[in-house]
Amino acid sequence: MEKRGPLQAEEMLEQIFYYMNQLVDEKEFAATVLLLTDLGRTLVNSERASFWYWDRNKHQYWTLAASDSERIVVPEETGIVGASIGNKETIVMNHPYEDDRFNPQVDKDTGYVTRSILCMPVTNARGEVIGAYQAINKLGENGDSVFDERDVRHLTMAAAFCGKTLESQLLYKESHEDPLTGLKNRRGCYSYFSDFVQPVIGRKSISVVISDIDFFKKINDTYGHNAGDAVLVHIADSLKSSVADSGEVVRWGGEEFVLLFTDCDEEMAARRAEEVRKRIEDSTCEFEGQQIKVTMSFGVKELAGGRSLDETIEYADARLYQAKTSGRNCVVFKDA
Ligand code: GH3
Ligand code: MG
Ligand code: MG
Repeated sequence: MEKRGPLQAEEMLEQIFYYMNQLVDEKEFAATVLLLTDLGRTLVNSERASFWYWDRNKHQYWTLAASDSERIVVPEETGIVGASIGNKETIVMNHPYEDDRFNPQVDKDTGYVTRSILCMPVTNARGEVIGAYQAINKLGENGDSVFDERDVRHLTMAAAFCGKTLESQLLYKESHEDPLTGLKNRRGCYSYFSDFVQPVIGRKSISVVISDIDFFKKINDTYGHNAGDAVLVHIADSLKSSVADSGEVVRWGGEEFVLLFTDCDEEMAARRAEEVRKRIEDSTCEFEGQQIKVTMSFGVKELAGGRSLDETIEYADARLYQAKTSGRNCVVFKDA
């Protein structure tokens, strides 16, 4: 890796502005974590940096190597990160091989040589620790150097910014997503609509499909609530893979799902809905050794004629009602 000397103040400011600008526009959690990591590395001028997120439920820390698909996971309380998070303290270690807290095994396994470490807990707005920043190998004028008070101050700023940014991203995600299925919830649907659908109205055909599981109450009564939840996840997965890139799937409420098609007129959307209906009818949800089968009913309406999303959904919902009253397990897209 290229050795870099300390940044001049102006260069440092440029870099900070660069990362701040990127962070303002970034909505993806993984990309945000990576940008925050680079910001920390730049501020302390280290060879490497990582942000370790503390998953309290799973008793783990995870970090990202290059993208969300490359998560590195370690058990809670491991290593310097564990000590920093556990004791809520900043650790500066400029001679790790002389320090009992340092485990040289990772270096032995990877061939990397750790010469200095700066590790700092990251807290949210309520002062709760959410993870830790770890910078490794301070770079100086002639290559190696040591972390000092100035680096601690700089990383403190990055840590404060990191805590607030990640917390607001997590809150956004939680308020726009259904935790059971991972689908967008109603609020997520409205955000998606205004970001991605509204701008193409008039240029593309937009259609809304509302669907509802048939006799779902009976599933809960027969197999139990957990089995019902498993069916909801199964249906969500089927809908997601059926719709793929041509639309978005929303858990509208209980056992009701909305499909938003961004390039389909009403007849095309009805054909897509029919494919989805058949696929679900043919599929089986396996839960604790039981094979559970369900069907769904669908109502379709094109968003046109100046109708709002809510009005279109209301219209589609009236057709869903027709589907229910005319025997269920069918798609209605024209008024009877
Ligand atoms: P229909 O064919 O007319 O739609 O009948 P239905 O039984 O599906 O409709 P109903 O509205 O009577 O029942 C919906 C059931 O969905 C009742 C409710 O307990 C259940 N439900 C809603 N949300 C959840 C959930 O998150 N998990 C589980 N397991 N059940 C849920
Ligand atoms: Mg139902
Ligand atoms: Mg319902």
